[in-house]
Amino acid sequence: MAIHKLPDYLINRLKAGEIVERPSSILKELVENSLDAGATRIEISLHDGGKSSLSVQDNGSGIELADMDLVLERYATSKIETDEDLYKIASYGFRGEALASIAEVSKLTLLTKTAYAQIGTKLVKKGWETVMTHQPVSFEHGTFVSVEDLFFNVPARLKFLKSSQTEFFYCYNYFIDIAIQHYDKARTLKKQDKVILQLEPVDSVTERIVAIFKQDRRKNLKNLKKTTGQLQINGMIGDANLRFRSRENIRIYVNGRPVQDKIIMKALMDAYRRQIKPGEYPFVVLDLQVNPQMVDVNVHPAKLNVKFANPQEVFEAVHSAVLEALGQGRIANISSFRPSETVEECSTATSTAHAGSFTQEFWHRHTEHSEESLFTAGHFHSGGQTINSMFSLHDFTDADRKNLYHPEIGDYQIIGQLRNTYIIVQGQDALYYIDQHALAERIAFESMKKTEKLTPETLLQPLKFEISLIADLSKKIEELNALGFEIAMLSERTIVIYAVPSIFVTYPIDMQTLLNYVLYQQTLNFDLLMEWVYASKACKTSIKAGHKLSVPQMEQLVSDGLEKIPWLFVCQHGRPFFWKIEKTEIDKLFDR
Ligand code: ADP
Ligand code: MG
Repeated sequence: MAIHKLPDYLINRLKAGEIVERPSSILKELVENSLDAGATRIEISLHDGGKSSLSVQDNGSGIELADMDLVLERYATSKIETDEDLYKIASYGFRGEALASIAEVSKLTLLTKTAYAQIGTKLVKKGWETVMTHQPVSFEHGTFVSVEDLFFNVPARLKFLKSSQTEFFYCYNYFIDIAIQHYDKARTLKKQDKVILQLEPVDSVTERIVAIFKQDRRKNLKNLKKTTGQLQINGMIGDANLRFRSRENIRIYVNGRPVQDKIIMKALMDAYRRQIKPGEYPFVVLDLQVNPQMVDVNVHPAKLNVKFANPQEVFEAVHSAVLEALGQGRIANISSFRPSETVEECSTATSTAHAGSFTQEFWHRHTEHSEESLFTAGHFHSGGQTINSMFSLHDFTDADRKNLYHPEIGDYQIIGQLRNTYIIVQGQDALYYIDQHALAERIAFESMKKTEKLTPETLLQPLKFEISLIADLSKKIEELNALGFEIAMLSERTIVIYAVPSIFVTYPIDMQTLLNYVLYQQTLNFDLLMEWVYASKACKTSIKAGHKLSVPQMEQLVSDGLEKIPWLFVCQHGRPFFWKIEKTEIDKLFDR
C-alpha cells in the first residue's frame, strides 16, 4: 500500500481511543472545560453509569457563536496561542482534542450561550455526521454538553466497559475529587435523574469533606497548613484512629488537579509510620499549591503523574506538615499482632474488601443495588489497592503459625450444625465449633491455588500506560510475561499490555493498580497477587452462613479441610475460624 494520509475521521477515531476510555474520562474532559470556562456551578447527570448518557451543565463563559464551528475541530482551542503559553499552563485542557474525540464515538449535544449573546445556540453531532448546527435555542448563560450512546459505532470499545454500577463508581470518585478540590463552588451529582449529592459552596475543605462524608468522623480529622519557599500545603488529615485498608481515602491535589505521586505518598506514609501499621492507610486530603513553572503535570493525557523540579523540598514539606498536624510525640498504641483487629470479617460473600472507608460507606448508603453488584463494584474499584492488606496469611511468621495450629482432631465425629452456621465436631480430646463458610472458603482458596491456569488472553484493545522510571523494568516485564501477560516496553516510560492472564478477564482487576503494585514493589510478588485474586474469588463462591448442611456434607467439608488446608484453620484473610474446647475444660465444668 502506498503511503497516504489518514482521513480525518480515522485520525479522530484513533485519537478518541486515547482520550475517551470510559464515561469517567469523558466526564473529566467535560468538567475541565467547565472549570476552564470559569464555572462556579457544575451539575453532572449520569444514566447507566454514563454509558447511555452523561451530561455536564455549567454556568461558565459559554462559547461565542463565531467559535461554534471550531469547537469540534481537532486542535482547535481557545487556550493557547504561543509556544510560551505551553510552559505556564493555567488551564486544564489546551490540546483542543477532547470534544472532537468524544463526538467521534458518541452522540454529542452542545447548548451554549455567552452572557452577552441574545440567544443560545445548539449543535448536535453523531459519530462523524453533523446532525445540527447553529440551531437557536433559549438557554441561560453557560454550557451544557451531553454525551449519549457512547461507543455506538465502536462495539469493541463498548464491550470493554464495565457494569453500570462500576462505571458510575468511577465517575462518582472523580466527582468527589472535584467536589473536595473546589469546595467553594457548587457541585451537583445526579444518577438516573435523582440528586445524589448537592453541595453548596463552603469556606473550607473541611466543611466540604464533612458535607460529603457527614459529621461522624469530624473529631478524628485535623487541619493541615504549611508554607515553605515554593510551596503551600493545605489539607485535612485523619488521626491514627482513622485507619483504612486501602489508599482510597488518600487524595492528593497539585494546583487543584488530582495526582498520584510517589514522592508525596512516601512523605505521607513515612510521617504516619509510627502511628499506623504497614498495610494500613490514613485519611488524607492534601492540596499543594506550587509555582506552575516548578511542576510538570502534562506527562500523560490523564495527567495523573506529576514531576517536580524540586522533589526533595516537596518531600520535606509534606513530611513535616503531616507530622506537625498530627502533633509529634503522641503516638498511638499499636501492638504487633492482633488478627482480630487487623483482619476484616468475611462472614458473608459480600462483606469483603471494603470495610471502613468513607467512600465505600457512602457508596453503600447511596446505592440500592443488590449485594452482588456492590461486591463487584468494590472489587473492581478497590482492586489492587487493597492488595497489601488482603494478604494477611503472609503476615503470619513461622512462630505465629505454630500458635495458630491446625486442629489435630484425630478420629472425629460430626455432632451437628449450630444455627446453620457452625459445624460441631467431636474429636479425640476436644469439641470443635467450625465456621462453615470460612472453612469452605479456605478450601476453595487452596484448591484454586493448585489448579488455576495462567493462560494469556488477548485484550480487545491493547492498554497503554505511561509509567515513571522503574529500575529493572525490562526484567520485571519479562517475569510478568512468563506469568501469562504479554507486555511490550515502548520506552523506559511507556508500556503496552496486549494480553493478560485469563483470570483477570474472568475476575477483572484494575490494570493500573495492578501495575502499580507489581512494578513498584521491590520484588515482584506475583504469588501474593494471585492469592489475593483467589481470596476474593473464594469468598464469593463458598457455602454461606445460614445454609443448612446434611451430615454427609459436613463430613465432606471437614475431611476436605483437614486434607487440603496445609497448615492452619484461618480464613485467607487470617481470621481463625474454629473454636476448640478441651475435654478437660468440659470436665472441669462438671467438677469431674
Ligand atoms: P481544549 O479544552 O483542549 O481547548 P476541547 O475540545 O475540550 O479542547 O474544547 C474545545 C474548545 O471549546 C475549548 O478551547 C473552549 O474554547 C470551548 N469549550 C469547550 N467546553 C466549553 C465550556 N463548557 N464552556 C466554554 N467553552 C468551552
Ligand atoms: Mg478540554
